[in-house]
Amino acid sequence: MKILKFGGTSLGSAERIRIAANIARTNNDCIVVCSAMSGMTNSLLEVADTWQTSDNDQAAFLMKQIQNTFDGHCRDLFQGDDILLHTEKLFQQACDLLEKPYEPNLRSMIPALGEQLTSLVFQMYLYATGTVSVLLDATEIVRLNENDEPDPADIARRLQRNPLFSPRGVFVTQGFICRDHQGRIATLSRGGSDFTATLLGAAIQAELIEIWTDIDGMHNNDPRHVQGTSPISELSYSEAAELAYFGAKILHPSCVRPARENNVPICIKNTFDSNAPGTTIQAETPSAGIRAIAAKDQINILRITSGRMFNAYGFLAKVFEIFSKHRVPVDVVTTSEVSVSVTIEDPDAIDDLVTDLKQLGTVDIERDRCILCVVGDVLQPGHFASIMQYLKEFNIRMVSLGASSNNITFVLPIDQKKSALNALHPIFNNATQNTLASYA
Ligand code: ADP
Ligand code: ASP
Ligand code: MG
Repeated sequence: MKILKFGGTSLGSAERIRIAANIARTNNDCIVVCSAMSGMTNSLLEVADTWQTSDNDQAAFLMKQIQNTFDGHCRDLFQGDDILLHTEKLFQQACDLLEKPYEPNLRSMIPALGEQLTSLVFQMYLYATGTVSVLLDATEIVRLNENDEPDPADIARRLQRNPLFSPRGVFVTQGFICRDHQGRIATLSRGGSDFTATLLGAAIQAELIEIWTDIDGMHNNDPRHVQGTSPISELSYSEAAELAYFGAKILHPSCVRPARENNVPICIKNTFDSNAPGTTIQAETPSAGIRAIAAKDQINILRITSGRMFNAYGFLAKVFEIFSKHRVPVDVVTTSEVSVSVTIEDPDAIDDLVTDLKQLGTVDIERDRCILCVVGDVLQPGHFASIMQYLKEFNIRMVSLGASSNNITFVLPIDQKKSALNALHPIFNNATQNTLASYA
């Protein structure tokens, strides 16, 4: 059995849904994971924010606009208005909620609507065009634990117990949405449908997880900022995980892990060019050359300096205890004899962290930074030197090399991100990267 995940960009209009449905129907036994139509989650989150400000009328007005746009797509896709009887029920439930005072515990029901409506329409369209399929409710399958993390073993149990599911047939479900440990509707983080896909792929030990999107695979640099990027035909799980984690938006940062732990390959495919080979992500293979570059925004540096660190043991443990107490993940770490620098994403966490970190030493903060990550066999002699050649004009604030053999991370001012990505791009034409040709 396969997983096929269609992102919002592949479901963004009636025409795109037709194309995606044609791809889905060529598979006999599969679970199709649908994101919301592109733009819908953003619009629904605006509704939720407006509801939160107690402007119930404006929230209802914005919801009506979403409904009008969505109905337009449905009319394009189906003959007659019967489909609207089904979608209307979901919109009505949301509008009833928006008439009531804001309730934080029910907030996620608003963004969840995007995936619920899109998967419903997708499944009904498959059915209307002759492909028998069953709609599964992801909120009955994906449950977060007390740390707000999904548990693949629990997902496997829930799927097996689900009376609508069997290992044969075409199933359609929602990405991104789930329930929290108290049973309330919740969502994964943004872009989380990829994560749903790999969690389900792990749960059913799928033969393959296909991520269908609007580009022909993982590219060697960020195509939103750099021209002339090329798709990479094969990546190892570690390389893909690093790229996803450090900003390659095409994959959700957490989605590689469930696939890797269960040895299920992931294939990234282009919905609009289904013959393009795309990118296959599978078991570890040694990197050859510099494989790809990615960058992540909204990074803050905290630098803790203390004479007590010199020649002492246990100092770093104390520093990281504070991050653990505040449940703030750390991305990049560098140390010197008397200071330690770490990067974090969440700007709202800074004040509380600094209050505690000040007990260990002085703390400097640098905001508006980005992480630039270079993936490949970076420990090969000469590779670091050639990367630095390309970056010599940039104001590098931190460098981390050697923690793994397949990546280097740099921290730079955010306003240098685009020019640094472009400055590094010629590295793919460099003579030391001959091996790249075999992947491109
Ligand atoms: P979906 O709606 O299918 O989930 P996303 O917008 O989340 O699509 O991801 C696809 C987009 O990711 C591409 O259109 C591209 O602009 C962006 N992207 C960023 N980095 C990369 C990369 N390294 N390779 C390919 N695409 C990338
Ligand atoms: N619809 C959700 C989002 O926009 C999830 C996804 O697209 O993967 O974040
Ligand atoms: Mg996405």
